[in-house]
Amino acid sequence: MMVDAANRLQPFLYNRRMQELIRQLLAELGEDPTREGLINTPKRVEKALKFLTSGYDANIDDVLNGALFTVDYSEMVIVKDVDFYSLCEHHLLPFFGKCHVAYIPTTKVIGLSKIPRLIDVYSRRLQVQERLTNQIANVILETIKPMGVAVVMEASHLCMSMRGVEKQNSFAVTSAMLGTFRSDPRTRSEFLELIKLRAGAIASRELTPSAGLGLECVND
Ligand SMILES: [Zn+2]
Repeated sequence: MMVDAANRLQPFLYNRRMQELIRQLLAELGEDPTREGLINTPKRVEKALKFLTSGYDANIDDVLNGALFTVDYSEMVIVKDVDFYSLCEHHLLPFFGKCHVAYIPTTKVIGLSKIPRLIDVYSRRLQVQERLTNQIANVILETIKPMGVAVVMEASHLCMSMRGVEKQNSFAVTSAMLGTFRSDPRTRSEFLELIKLRAGAIASRELTPSAGLGLECVND
């Protein structure tokens, strides 16, 4: 079901139906939604959820407006250790960590401050980590047609760690390697060396988009 577009575009126009649902949820959890500490919770939760899913409304052209530059430069551009926060679409619980992006330009570069903004746009949606990683890589590929793009995301998943499910797997690394980062192992290793993954062992072997990561929580 589509969310009412008018409500999304006006974040301060509160949605009574959503607040009523949150009130019902509190009651179903065994709480008293009328007690002092909870009385304004539906309003706060609605506002928080709208912010945390505000990436659905973002227009990539607007985000990048005026921040594409023509260059005569073909060295690797790296933006690393960008914090991101997203929500697991299976549990609506956070997963968060660091995102590293690299590309090798042909004729255009993206203003450096816009890379974290692009990461926010795709993080502020209901996500799985692999799709988020691929979307960030693909939007850069489509926007500036570089020789290659690499995106690596390292994240902790609260839906796993808070619930005590397979704690050892609550930290996940995903990658998207496109163009020269896929075809040239030296380019890929140079990037992986520069970002020095927290999960260090992974840097030494070939990172390829994985099929299973991020879906482990789905059966629980
Ligand atoms: Zn989950």
